[in-house]
Amino acid sequence: MKKILVSGGAGFLGSHLCEKLLGEGNTVICLDNFFSGHERNISHLLDHPQFELIIQDVTLPFSCEVDEIYNLACPASPLIYQQHPLETFKTSILGAINMLDLAKTQQAKILQASTSEVYGDPEVHPQPETYHGNVNPIGPRACYDEGKRGAETLFFDYQRTYQLRIKVMRIFNTYGPRMNANDGRVVSNLIIQALKGQALTVVGDGKQTRSFCFVDDTVDAMWRLMNSPDTLTGPINVGNPSECTILDLASLILDLTGSKSTLTFLPATADDPLRRQPLVDMAKKELSWTPSVSLEEGLKQTISYFEKILR
Ligand code: NAD
Ligand code: UDP
Repeated sequence: MKKILVSGGAGFLGSHLCEKLLGEGNTVICLDNFFSGHERNISHLLDHPQFELIIQDVTLPFSCEVDEIYNLACPASPLIYQQHPLETFKTSILGAINMLDLAKTQQAKILQASTSEVYGDPEVHPQPETYHGNVNPIGPRACYDEGKRGAETLFFDYQRTYQLRIKVMRIFNTYGPRMNANDGRVVSNLIIQALKGQALTVVGDGKQTRSFCFVDDTVDAMWRLMNSPDTLTGPINVGNPSECTILDLASLILDLTGSKSTLTFLPATADDPLRRQPLVDMAKKELSWTPSVSLEEGLKQTISYFEKILR
């Protein structure tokens, strides 16, 4: 069995990934400074004999024996990263360098959790991996978008320079249990508002689209990519191609919660992508992966998670 490092392992995606890797009998080292994640996400893993938590900032050099590295450390919520742009950019770039240096020393395989935000506000729709994106380099989202783009650059330069075994996955909006209730992402916000009987906050006219993928599907693709042949480096899109407007999402959440909440419209925000939908032909072909959880089913599971934590 392998020794696997998950940076950002106490976050939403990272905690599900740690669970999956432990379930397969691996030893898992979770490196996190709880910047946007929380110990409660992994509290059920702390007594596991093959689980180790290291509370550390990924921007500081780190060394351990390891076979594989999943680099997830970075806030993913627009609210949090826009409040902390410098920390976000440094985490993305310095964190990538530190994890790549560790991979080089250990001859470990390394996977980068990249993002659909590398496409910015896309002029090509849906987005294939070959699209180079439309990112505003000086806007309020740039700390995240350009940080993640820079991290991709570093991954490919380390691969070309040191023949490192790299995997770059461009993750589209993922949701599910253990989303941070306070980080302002649309799925958690709208569910919590619906359950509390508060008005659902729709930014802009709500006609902007996203394509929401359930966490189990995303984590499954992450695992498949890490375990794919070394020749498959990516970048590879992972997401659910089923596209919906924010208004559609709000109305589905109202139906599923049975809430009588109304909608309230907030001003549109700068550089908010208007449309986003992944082309996942590469993931289907190369990883034999296809998302299997419908938005309705995934939302039901997410709603029951938030019902429990709001009790
Ligand atoms: P999250 O905020 O829940 O998790 C990120 C984790 O990284 C947190 O536990 C946080 O404490 C940790 N972290 C942040 N800065 C750190 C630092 N300097 N040192 C150590 N740990 C640090 O977010 P998430 O949704 O689980 O996203 C995980 C990864 O996947 C991120 O890299 C994100 O960019 C990427 N991603 C997520 C989505 C999504 O929809 N959830 C989409 C695209 C990409
Ligand atoms: N959004 C919204 N209401 C909210 C939070 C977000 O309408 O309470 C919108 C946001 O402006 C964006 C979309 O929902 O257009 C997705 O936002 P999120 O922060 O979840 O993720 P993003 O895809 O922007 O990273």
